[in-house]
Amino acid sequence: MKRLTLIFILFLGKELVGLSKPVPRYEDWGFYAHRMLNKLAIFTLPEKMIEFYKKNWNYLYEHAVDPDKRRYAIKGEAIRHYIDADHWGNNALEYLPVKYEEAITKTSAFYYINELDTLLIFDTLNDLFEKNTELTYSESFRSKFTTYTSGILIKDIANWIHDNALFEQDDQNWIIQGRKILFFNKDLKSSNASILIDDRFSKHGILPYSLPQFYYRLVEAFKERNEVKILKLSSDLGHYIGDAHVPLHTTMNYNGQLTNQDGIHAFWESRLPELFAETKYNFVVGSAEYIPDIQSFTRKIIKKSHSLVDSVLLIEKRLSKQFPESEQYCFETRLGQIVKLPCKAYAELYDTKLDNQVEEQFRSCILAIGSVWMSAWNDAGQPMLNELPKSSQYKEFEAKDSFKLKNTSIEIRSHE
Ligand SMILES: [Zn+2]
Repeated sequence: MKRLTLIFILFLGKELVGLSKPVPRYEDWGFYAHRMLNKLAIFTLPEKMIEFYKKNWNYLYEHAVDPDKRRYAIKGEAIRHYIDADHWGNNALEYLPVKYEEAITKTSAFYYINELDTLLIFDTLNDLFEKNTELTYSESFRSKFTTYTSGILIKDIANWIHDNALFEQDDQNWIIQGRKILFFNKDLKSSNASILIDDRFSKHGILPYSLPQFYYRLVEAFKERNEVKILKLSSDLGHYIGDAHVPLHTTMNYNGQLTNQDGIHAFWESRLPELFAETKYNFVVGSAEYIPDIQSFTRKIIKKSHSLVDSVLLIEKRLSKQFPESEQYCFETRLGQIVKLPCKAYAELYDTKLDNQVEEQFRSCILAIGSVWMSAWNDAGQPMLNELPKSSQYKEFEAKDSFKLKNTSIEIRSHE
């Protein structure tokens, strides 16, 4: 490795063990930027919302990085923070199925399992953009279940997943068991049978699908007038919208590991905002705007971010060849530890050569967060926020509980 990997010490805290520790995947905007984004979004809100959000700004600020903590504690969380768009080919974001279930159907293998048999039902051969609308059952499956003679429509499978499987997701495997063995309205005979979906889609990231799901949950929270849920979901959504604005959250080369630029993820999204957000960037972004379609809004953000991937990588690559190598990385003391970070002069040159890219993404993100909060509130019928039911109000002990997550550990892919 040409350089030591960047370490974002604020995130790693006491787990920091040394300079050679690889940076975990998806540090996101780091503590600093996620918190700033949630806080600044408050100022875009309309009159009927702003008081409530201002009153609770501290919650939104403190909890802005909860989704990152959950990545290590909750299965299925890590994949919500990104999409490796280029894994699926050029212009994948143009063709990504609208429905998550359809994306899974088009890329995964389905198995039938009972005490005696494991049969492949069908395998869609990882082809997200296959034009076929119909799939054919495997020979072995058809020979055992003779009622399954013809093919089945992809949209019917997607609907079946939607009705039966989405709440049983266990990371990358979806197991449908017991009472749900009626597969596409036909009995699979054994009461001990299961359907296993070997999901080949989700591990490459589901951000375009998970972000709208959180939006709909926020709409429900507003309808319920549930303060804890409104705050929690607003904060989480702010985080995911932040991630969607980071170009390196949309590519397989998420940390420059494929182009010998290890550490560029934190360089772009943590180091640059930390150094320049308050001294160089302009945060006046105007008022939140209503979003009529959260799905296409999400995709538009991700497409824009993905279009910036080349410049994020190529500009730094060029600079690293021109700038004296010994002046690219400096040592700083943070929280009593010495860490290696891009030097300020090098970072400043990178920020300048990026031509306000980080600032523009930062600004666009602030407006997007405010607009999403406002639109969810609007879709819920603009409930009054000044006197939410006492029973639903946020209590301190819940904040402490959420921090326990930090001490649990789930294996998530950090490097590939
Ligand atoms: Zn994240």
